[in-house]
Amino acid sequence: MRLYDTLTRSLVELPAAPGPVRMYVCGPTVYARAHIGNARPFVVGMWLRSWLHATGYEAQLVHNITDINDKIYDAAPGASAELAARATAWYLEDTADLGLGMPDHLPRATESVPEIVTFIEELIVRGNAYAVDGDVYFRVASFPEYGRLSGQRPDQVEQGEEPNLRKEDPRDFALWKANKPETEDTWWESPWGRGRPGWHIECSVMAEEIYGPAFEIHGGGLDLVFPHHENEVAQSRALGHPFAQIWAHNGMLRFTGEKMSKSAGYTATIRETLDKWRKEPVLLFFMTAHWRKPIDFSDEVMLSAATQWAGFQGALRVPHAVPGSGEWQRFAAALNDDFNTPEALAILHSWRSSGYWELLRDGLRIFGLELPDVAGTGPPDDVDELAQRRQAARGRADFGEADRLRAQIEALGWEVQDAPGSYRLVPRP
Ligand SMILES: [Zn+2]
Repeated sequence: MRLYDTLTRSLVELPAAPGPVRMYVCGPTVYARAHIGNARPFVVGMWLRSWLHATGYEAQLVHNITDINDKIYDAAPGASAELAARATAWYLEDTADLGLGMPDHLPRATESVPEIVTFIEELIVRGNAYAVDGDVYFRVASFPEYGRLSGQRPDQVEQGEEPNLRKEDPRDFALWKANKPETEDTWWESPWGRGRPGWHIECSVMAEEIYGPAFEIHGGGLDLVFPHHENEVAQSRALGHPFAQIWAHNGMLRFTGEKMSKSAGYTATIRETLDKWRKEPVLLFFMTAHWRKPIDFSDEVMLSAATQWAGFQGALRVPHAVPGSGEWQRFAAALNDDFNTPEALAILHSWRSSGYWELLRDGLRIFGLELPDVAGTGPPDDVDELAQRRQAARGRADFGEADRLRAQIEALGWEVQDAPGSYRLVPRP
């Protein structure tokens, strides 16, 4: 299997199965209910793990929760920890309801502060960081590869942090921030005084705490390439750790469509989207775009996804057929080549219309979509008995009775399809 890597700008082959393939995908900053775009890195990470498991890999997923951040302080002055805890619970609940299971680890920044302090101390000892007035900054000039991941020219880097004369160099970024008592109601003791970690350092530390200094895949949204991931690379590689082998960045979700044009700034949370459309259409919607490309969200595309799901649910109405050899390999080839879900989805539709029930069930299951168990799809005995009585009624040309029995069968959730000299019972969509 191969995946596109942002760092080398090329498709990179994964190690052969069973791997392992260890993945770290950046998670949300928790200060409100997460919007539907935040579900994309989660969904892509969970699907990749699911596919790797299905193809004989040992795969793990770590997804962090950023529960120390300016956004949280701003959103809940004086009660930031309570808000972070509540919003973490929302995120876990909303992502669990996607029905994909959960990552192997969900580390929170607040639980790794001592390890973060140790990591920063090591950077200082090596000359890659320096402390000033209770803050600690990474010294970008000490890491010559800086800018490689995001393709920035090292002399044009801007961190997006507030201008700060304490920095030796405007390109330097914060590893530790001194507590500002007027706006920040949480802090931790450190060798540099009371304060809290910067954002980027938590992911270097938590990834390495769980996986050690090297692992296979680091994921997250494209908006994280710079500065977040560029800074993670600098922090870890400055200490000589190989860190991630492949950088997999998902494209962003864009709100479009009718509603968007009426109200600028229209967004939807994961919760609202699940409540309105249910999980299967949401998952199918994410399958429609390649994970690296942007994806457009609107009521119109969700309606189309819901229609697709209705089609899949009616798949068992298509007479069962036995696929030729090579069908599953075709599906696997699409996913093994940079995880091409739009192509996989097209193959699933072709299986649906061809009546390849078992393949369809197995293929959909990779993506958390469950059809009724094929083995258990036969009609119950009472439905079968009604169908036999109807068949007999038709045999004696009692079409009134036959129609009455058909209605009774339909009321039980089945449909009779007549064939020459016989009939077939299929579940009603
Ligand atoms: Zn991160």
